[in-house]
Amino acid sequence: MALPTPEVYTVKTPDGVDLRLTRYRGGNKGPAMLVHGAGVWSGMFMLPTIDEHFVDYSVKNGYDTWLLDWRASIKLPLRQFTMDEAAANDFPAAVRFIRDTTRANSVQAVVHCAGSSTFFLALADGLLPDIRCVSCSQIALHYQPPKTTEVKCALHLGETLERMGVSYLSADEDPDHPDFQKAFTEIVNSLYHQCDSAVCHRITFMYGELYRHEQLNAATHQRLAEQFGKCNITTFCHLAQMVRRGEAAKFDYGAAENQKRYGSPEPPSYLNPQHLALPITFISGALNQTFLPVSTELTYNWLCARNDPKLYRRHVVPNYGHIDGFMGFRANQDVYSLFLEQLENCPA
Ligand SMILES: [Zn+2]
Repeated sequence: MALPTPEVYTVKTPDGVDLRLTRYRGGNKGPAMLVHGAGVWSGMFMLPTIDEHFVDYSVKNGYDTWLLDWRASIKLPLRQFTMDEAAANDFPAAVRFIRDTTRANSVQAVVHCAGSSTFFLALADGLLPDIRCVSCSQIALHYQPPKTTEVKCALHLGETLERMGVSYLSADEDPDHPDFQKAFTEIVNSLYHQCDSAVCHRITFMYGELYRHEQLNAATHQRLAEQFGKCNITTFCHLAQMVRRGEAAKFDYGAAENQKRYGSPEPPSYLNPQHLALPITFISGALNQTFLPVSTELTYNWLCARNDPKLYRRHVVPNYGHIDGFMGFRANQDVYSLFLEQLENCPA
């Protein structure tokens, strides 16, 4: 379908990072803000290789649709950041901008993976009181990875790479560091044999199996390099810390620095249900091998035990993995309606 002409805005965060918001005026519903994961960009919601992507779907259903490229976007300059920094700065600034521009009292959110977990840090800290409801894809405040990811995290792989002077990993080709990328590619090609794409193998090393191959069409698989790029090591390290802990907490700088920053040797937990009493739908792919589906079950159960359980819903989508719920060629038939349902239940 033909989308309305996009409006592109730059939003400066309080700590000086330029974010990008792209608006498609699909109608009077919403505004709905779409938040991508780490090492990708807002393009994950509008693949040119599938018949109907999520932005098509959102616009078709009458939504004023806002794509946020937050600081993890591969279309913004690479920077090192903790998820705390992104949570405290990016989402409050983006939501404020959307509200100021649209004059809406509140904003709906569809959030995915590391974008979702960072968004939930901001939400849990009470920084997003003007979010009306959330459709959450794959991960929120609890982390249960498959065994292979657990091993990588237990080995402190991120910290090891950081000590070696590696500041990011890239799923794409990397002309700036050809020797490193060549060695990295040889390792991943020896580890994975699911297909003959080096991009695909690097993605699997970085995030675990990110999609079911049978859910991607050939064109999407061939053009993965357009969607995936660099992910900085600090964010990997923060994610790994939370995986080891099993739940969301502020960045662990080590006991002495934690004491200075937080007043305690351990980084504080984000698990405070006070600001999470709003309608939230959790959606996991049944075959997710990046974060196991039990991850959203843990957050769902934790919230139901503390706030009004009527606020929360959870769906597990058969035959889908992690990001194919947006990138799959049949995702418009199998998955999108579950994200929409939450938005439709919370009109302005
Ligand atoms: Zn592949």
